[in-house]
Amino acid sequence: MQSKIWLSSPHMGGNERKYVNEAFDTNWVAPLGPNVNGFEQDIARFLEGNHGQEVHVAALSSGTAAIHLGLILLDVKAGDEVICQSMTFSASANPILYQGATPVFVDSEPDTWNMSPEFLEAAIKDRIAKGKKPKAIIPVHLYGMPAKIRKIITIAQQYDIPVLEDAAEALGSHINRQYCGTFCEIAALSFNGNKIITTSGGGALVAKNAAIAEKARFLSTQARDAAPHYQHSHIGYNYRMSNICAGIGRGQMEVLQERVQQRRANYDWYTNVLSETEGIKFLPEPEGYYSNRWLTTVLVKHSSRTREDLRTALDAENIEARPLWKPMHCQPIFKDAPFYGDGTSEILFRDGLCLPSGSNLTGEEKDRVLKQIKKALQ
Ligand SMILES: *Cc1c(COP(=O)(O)O)cnc(C)c1O
Repeated sequence: MQSKIWLSSPHMGGNERKYVNEAFDTNWVAPLGPNVNGFEQDIARFLEGNHGQEVHVAALSSGTAAIHLGLILLDVKAGDEVICQSMTFSASANPILYQGATPVFVDSEPDTWNMSPEFLEAAIKDRIAKGKKPKAIIPVHLYGMPAKIRKIITIAQQYDIPVLEDAAEALGSHINRQYCGTFCEIAALSFNGNKIITTSGGGALVAKNAAIAEKARFLSTQARDAAPHYQHSHIGYNYRMSNICAGIGRGQMEVLQERVQQRRANYDWYTNVLSETEGIKFLPEPEGYYSNRWLTTVLVKHSSRTREDLRTALDAENIEARPLWKPMHCQPIFKDAPFYGDGTSEILFRDGLCLPSGSNLTGEEKDRVLKQIKKALQ
């Protein structure tokens, strides 16, 4: 059997060990320390870029923790409803359940595969008509493609509902130079092992308001009041990022722009070499949109072959490809949740496939993938 080709695997830059060694040398082996502070600064400066939107970052143990704390900071409580993009990874929606709230799922639109602004508005109106105004809205920039976030925010503001941006897959993506993760009061990032950069496991809450980021740090370190003894007046969480992981993150931030370029080059390569192949459709960027192309995704629209035909053919050659994320409203755990849409995300799931997209893919590996795709679809 030939060596495995992964969908997306960790890709170290080189300086990660330097920062991790510093943590050992200075004995900052704890969920605080210079790397944690440095990593937060690095992310904030990156996201601000030249755009001028100031942001503040709290480094956490995971992206899921960031979404959970984000919902807490938006005061989501038991019995509340939270609108969430249906086409996403389950970690966007699970924190709604952690709070004892109910998710309301909204379908995708075809231009970005993310939350449909039209169905979002229909959902808000119907939930209000049924007696409950949603407490928050969670759109996602899936696979790195920015959602129609400005339209979503405009609608949310009309009804005075806060938006929590799930930018876990979209670090480095932007719309007209404003980075994903800076559009809303609160956003979540992930540094899990498969993401565009990784801290092995980790995440961050991004906030426009410094006090919100500070509150996230407070809640993530067990919510200890200022007192010499352990004193608590809030529910605390153990969600802070460790100084070791943050050291990996600092090294990764040095190569983030390079990783975005490499992922985008993968996408360009796939579109180029498959331009003449029947039955493969890509997702181009709308005007002004810039995707980090975390994963190259395709739709299989072939006269005689299905997505599963292609996936299993790749799998037989030890090449990992994964169906597009199964929508949340189709998941057993969320089967009773309300859903607003026209089935767009179900068709994306039926026909969609994520191709190997690592920034560390070699030319040889890409040629193996291409050969199998062509063979499977001929
Ligand atoms: C990865 C991911 C998360 C969760 O991040 P973790 O760091 O793995 O907890 C949330 N939302 C989306 C869309 C993701 O892809």
